[in-house]
Amino acid sequence: MDVATRMSRLGTESAFEVLARAKALERAGRDIIHLEIGEPDFDTPVHIREAAKRALDEGATHYGPAAGLPELREAIAKHVGLTRGVPVSPEEVVVTPGGKPIMFFTILALVNAGDEVIHPNPGFPIYESVVNFVGGVPVPIPLREESGFGFDMDEFERRLSPRTRLIIVNSPQNPTGGVLDRRQLERIAAAAVERGITILTDEIYREFLYEGEFVSMLGFPGVRERAVLLDGFSKTYAMTGWRLGYGVMPAPLAEHVTRLMVNSASCTASFVQLAGIAALEGDQTPVTQMVDAFRRRRDLVVDGLNTLPGVSCIRPRGAFYAFPNVTRLGRPSSEIAERLLTEAGVALLPGTAFGAHGEGYLRLSYANSEANLRAALERMRPVLASF
Ligand code: PLP
Repeated sequence: MDVATRMSRLGTESAFEVLARAKALERAGRDIIHLEIGEPDFDTPVHIREAAKRALDEGATHYGPAAGLPELREAIAKHVGLTRGVPVSPEEVVVTPGGKPIMFFTILALVNAGDEVIHPNPGFPIYESVVNFVGGVPVPIPLREESGFGFDMDEFERRLSPRTRLIIVNSPQNPTGGVLDRRQLERIAAAAVERGITILTDEIYREFLYEGEFVSMLGFPGVRERAVLLDGFSKTYAMTGWRLGYGVMPAPLAEHVTRLMVNSASCTASFVQLAGIAALEGDQTPVTQMVDAFRRRRDLVVDGLNTLPGVSCIRPRGAFYAFPNVTRLGRPSSEIAERLLTEAGVALLPGTAFGAHGEGYLRLSYANSEANLRAALERMRPVLASF
């Protein structure tokens, strides 16, 4: 069957491909340690699961409004207002099945063919994929290890142009675990406001911050009126499979994004949304406990990686990824990742899964038990020594 030419412009997220390959190896009897996919290994907290079961029993099994249930939009507006220190009204909130559709819908709604979109590289691959899909021009800004994987600000300022339509920022960051500091965010915000450019700020890893205070893009003067905030429940509440996320944006844009929901998913599952209210309004102790566990794992993984031959790894300040430098091995990161999967049974991703500037790096998700992380590091050692 012939598919439309636009499909050739749509990329993918390699984590799902590597996961499928790793699962196939497992079915063939191999023991694989999974460090490829970005999801907490914790169970969704009990009170959230109970809320979903109650919602199902009480009949929340029907279609709901496309932009989300009013009570969840209200809870999100309150939560974002408190955590970002800016006023948010429920009309500015659109609930979606996961945070990912907010990327897709924002880019579809804002970017015309030929418009330029600034995005981090290495960065979440879906940004670039969707920009290409709509005929936009992705403008990658390198994230450099020397600056803790912050934006290369000189390059950023050089690459701004009259065609820049959107700037995508993600902090704490996937895949590097880097966190943009206040000064960088401030400069990006000021440039966007001065030139009338929209910002998509992906703050899905907000809770996974191990040092320093979280700084939201939304807090800078003039940003609130021209920004789309992407956040969700997948990471913070270990709810990846539930599919629940949201965007906060100026009300007129929210109407367009809602129309994209009507044309695609119709609405987000009603009982899942009610569980989301329990997540936001209930006990936050499970989140704190999970983040504490991730901090210990980060230290275990980074310390361990720095003892491996040919590897050096800076200590990421956020998210749950380590991004070790493997340039000393002198081989493409895709080859190193492939050999670690087939020879060591350790599934992880080459840095190039996140863009060309990821060459020379690997990405490990440390959302796995300490025992598995230790075992993975030991299994990697002889394979890396053989390069
Ligand atoms: N943004 C970033 C940077 C991510 O890494 C992810 C998931 O991996 C998402 C957004 C979307 O998450 P979800 O659609 O599960 O809410």
